[in-house]
Amino acid sequence: MDHIESRSPQSPDDLVVRVPDGGAAEVSGAVERTRAAGAGWARRPATERAAALGACADALAAAASEVTALVVREVGKPVGEATGEVARGVAILRYFAQAALLPDGDVYPAADGVSLLHTRRRPHGVAGLITPWNFPVAIPLWKAAPALAFGNGVVLKPAEQSPAVALRLAELFAEALPEGVFTVVTGGGAAGAALVGLADAVSFTGSVGAGSHVRRAAAERGIPVQCEMGGQNASVVLPDADLDAAARAIAAAAMGYAGQKCTATSRVIVVGDADGFAERLVAAVEALGVGDPAEPGTAVGPVIEEEARDAVTGAADRAASHGAKVLTGGRPLDRAGWFVGPTVVTAVPEGDELLTEEVFGPICAVVPAASPEAAVEAANAVRHGLVAALFTRDLGHALTLAPRFDVGMAKVNAPTAGVDFHAPFGGAKESSYGPREQGPAARDFYTRTTTVTLTP
Ligand code: NAD
Repeated sequence: MDHIESRSPQSPDDLVVRVPDGGAAEVSGAVERTRAAGAGWARRPATERAAALGACADALAAAASEVTALVVREVGKPVGEATGEVARGVAILRYFAQAALLPDGDVYPAADGVSLLHTRRRPHGVAGLITPWNFPVAIPLWKAAPALAFGNGVVLKPAEQSPAVALRLAELFAEALPEGVFTVVTGGGAAGAALVGLADAVSFTGSVGAGSHVRRAAAERGIPVQCEMGGQNASVVLPDADLDAAARAIAAAAMGYAGQKCTATSRVIVVGDADGFAERLVAAVEALGVGDPAEPGTAVGPVIEEEARDAVTGAADRAASHGAKVLTGGRPLDRAGWFVGPTVVTAVPEGDELLTEEVFGPICAVVPAASPEAAVEAANAVRHGLVAALFTRDLGHALTLAPRFDVGMAKVNAPTAGVDFHAPFGGAKESSYGPREQGPAARDFYTRTTTVTLTP
């Protein structure tokens, strides 16, 4: 069988793990094992599932520093953010451990006045989870924890760039969960596609391109599917905003973790003095710590691989060749690993890829807008619709403009990046397909309802 290698982006000579590049046979075996184990899991009392998820949370909490170090090593996430992600993973497990004990149905008045007419939630069976590399703990867990809490078995297919973290999670949970209910299968897109062909429900997070295959294949099979995909997120800055605070928030949202978040800011749309705001933004970006992600002061580490670095420099070069001005960054850093300078670009011509596509790296464009309304229109003028932010001190603008963003998440005076695991999460337009995930929305996705009539 072929293998895939996961290498550390800050030291590409460091082979983190070599794992099988699973194909249809491996995925089929994993689904069958999980289906067999999952049947018993679904029948266990919810109190037992809650206790098991609580034990998973304890196991992850006990291994937090080791898992954090593995996240830093495998995907180059700065240690401060990696620490926060692992803590979030623990919190997600604890939240869904409690959610397992929520009422699992409703009672309705019966037409005959005596029958018991009620609904019961049931799991789907095997939940196939396909995840990206950028949040290798939080995303698998915000899918797996609710799937397990409500009685599904889980087959997780992590990204080919982050199998080591996924396999370590499975090891940590092995004592807490019955054998076979949480299975990791390694491989690339073919393994993901095989999983979509066999699972009873699919939750996917990744690029728009891969997600469009997943949603079509799942719809063809008639199974529940949710796809969370890429963004091309805007931050709109009005002249009355606290401009220095806005510049700091946007710098962190655009460049933190080298811009590799679906919620990163890619476009900064400024009403008023756009050049003046660009200067403030450049100052805030240049104040960020860039370098070794294991150093506590680092905010911007490497990008995930060589192609990702070249995508950033290529996008900056192409924009510059069409007349744009690169104010800072745009070049690889002179050190080992896939580092690129955080990049701010202005005077970007209309239609340039920096204004329409997701580069998924530390790069953003600053563009002027003639009015607050024109800024919101520009923010909406992309195929994506994940998140948008508005910076203003005017309550009227906050109340009238924020709801006009055509996105799944709108923020006022807060960075586009950042997700609350207990609130519904998802996008609009090409950024999202199917029901929301996280928070109470997760229960609706991972269960189906049977309406039961009990007549005397
Ligand atoms: P990717 O689309 O390349 O891969 C994601 C996963 O899909 C991987 O496990 C991959 O092996 C699998 N895959 C690829 N092709 C497939 C196919 N045809 N069928 C089934 N599975 C397939 O994405 P990535 O590079 O790992 O992650 C970066 C992307 O993820 C960015 O676009 C980012 O915006 C997006 N993302 C979105 C969210 C969100 O919640 N909206 C969160 C994080 C990342």
